[in-house]
Amino acid sequence: MSDIRFDGRVAIVTGAGAGLGRSHALELARRGAKVVVNDLGGAVDGTGSSLSAAETVVEEIKAAGGEAIANGANVTKPDEVAAMVDAARDAWGKVDILVNNAGILRDKSFTKMSLEDFRAVMEVHLWGAVVCTKAVWDHMKEAGYGRIVMTSSSSGIYGNFGQSNYGAAKMGVVGLMNVLHLEGRKNNIKVNTLSPTAHTRMTEGLIPEEAAKLMTPESVTAGLIALCAETAPERTILCAGAGGYAATKIYETPGVYLSPEEQTAENVMANMDKITSEHGQEEFEEGARQTFKFIQYAAKHFDLA
Ligand code: NAD
Repeated sequence: MSDIRFDGRVAIVTGAGAGLGRSHALELARRGAKVVVNDLGGAVDGTGSSLSAAETVVEEIKAAGGEAIANGANVTKPDEVAAMVDAARDAWGKVDILVNNAGILRDKSFTKMSLEDFRAVMEVHLWGAVVCTKAVWDHMKEAGYGRIVMTSSSSGIYGNFGQSNYGAAKMGVVGLMNVLHLEGRKNNIKVNTLSPTAHTRMTEGLIPEEAAKLMTPESVTAGLIALCAETAPERTILCAGAGGYAATKIYETPGVYLSPEEQTAENVMANMDKITSEHGQEEFEEGARQTFKFIQYAAKHFDLA
């Protein structure tokens, strides 16, 4: 297989001053991309700001012979993000790749979590991905090319105690991907999602030391690079960590049909095993497929099919 290269491509990586984003930015640049290294430079909980983290990564890229600019936009602020995209276009004429990676944590059980902590985490992960994607979307459509990667988490896909804010946001970006995939594909915009697990400051102290050594950001970045490539898949949730790569899939069971006289809560409950049985489950490429399936069941019952 030929090398994946990004010569002539322009990428924005949000939250690239540290951890996974830094690793993504370095590797995109090493493979030829011109990179906007965005980072607000705050603490894990989102407080504070400094451009020095992004600037350090830019220096690393330049020292290795690459091209990069540092940017301190807060991804939740449309004006700052618009200025970041303008800066990329002024410098290099376009944006081909957007990696929505910026993130913060404010873990607490739902009982103890303030609405402010819920909102702050939703804002950076979900709203931040919306703001950044919106800022490049029309340019990508006009150019007929775009690669966008959302960053999800097993905490959202499967759940993790104490992370209701984070989990909700991380599943939110999957919904965003599903719709933007449908809206972007005719303009060659491919939208995918990375679900990483790595040793960074975000997971500091949560992973045993021996395991942490295996969970390198670089192992996750190998997956990210595949999602940014010209030949990237579409609407894929790629999970990556410690050298393991898998895909998360969402399937729907065939379920049951209940006739109008059977359509009671008691009958739904009585059929729960059949409804949740995985036998014959399918992956749907859009929401309308579910409606169509149910109408087909009913039409068959009424002999309309
Ligand atoms: P990290 O804390 O090292 O990096 C996140 C970066 O985002 C920081 O440099 C931070 O300054 C930046 N940032 C935060 N808010 C910002 C804002 N409003 N605007 C711009 N930049 C902002 O953490 P990481 O582990 O590298 O996480 C990267 C992404 O991967 C996050 O979206 C995170 O939720 C996700 N993730 C990480 C893991 C893991 O195991 N590390 C697991 C699942 C998901």
